[in-house]
Amino acid sequence: MAEKDLRKIKMFVLDMDGTIYLGDRLFPFTKRFLDAVRQNGADFCFFTNNSSKNREAYLTKLAGMGIEIPPEKMLISNGVILDWLKANRPHETAYVVGTPALRADFDGAGIRQCEDADYVVLGFDTTLTYEKLCTACDLVRAGKPIYGVNPDFNCPVEGGFIPDCGSMAALIQASTGVQCEFFGKPSRHTLEYMLQHTGCRPEEMAVVGDRLYTDIAVAAGTAVTSILVMSGETTPEMLAQSEIKPDLVFDNIGCIFPPEGL
Ligand SMILES: [Mg+2]
Repeated sequence: MAEKDLRKIKMFVLDMDGTIYLGDRLFPFTKRFLDAVRQNGADFCFFTNNSSKNREAYLTKLAGMGIEIPPEKMLISNGVILDWLKANRPHETAYVVGTPALRADFDGAGIRQCEDADYVVLGFDTTLTYEKLCTACDLVRAGKPIYGVNPDFNCPVEGGFIPDCGSMAALIQASTGVQCEFFGKPSRHTLEYMLQHTGCRPEEMAVVGDRLYTDIAVAAGTAVTSILVMSGETTPEMLAQSEIKPDLVFDNIGCIFPPEGL
């Protein structure tokens, strides 16, 4: 049954951490899976919610692991929010609570950044300061909208987790009473971005990832196929208790196209 569904898929949109690698270690089956996708006449691209980095950083990381891809195959939440802002808030200024990489992406998109801005953008800011939090909260209290680049609460690192954009948004919400509008997975903005940038119809696309509330939820209620892999953060108990259910579940991406099935 699973095989029958997979044969309709022309594009696999792959999460990164917990899906193709863990930290800096590429899973031993990742390259074989990527080859198998092509052998099956399909294609793949990557999508990460991690807004502390940008496309260039991920292309470098992948190349270091022996995976060379053209830039358009590396999608990131930064691109989703930038496309939306350019279309929906043109000629306005941003106060970006983010890393130098995210701020450089805003510069590259031609969006002017200042402290007295028209809106606030909150990224996964590993360079966060108390001063930046105060400025963001002041703007929100003054009625300026706040957009979160990705809703993840934690980012996996070697030996545990570090607080991600969703946790920083919770702090700002506690102070101001205002909830961020989030981009990245699982927002509909991201699903539209994936479809637009791959040129696929929903039934031709599969999203693959290890996290239920982002990677799997992004496809919920649509014709896009969701594939959960158990090589990252999701445990069998979490899956059993979750209201968000994937279409397909595999131990890891190496099991999606087993060698004997080709
Ligand atoms: Mg992941």
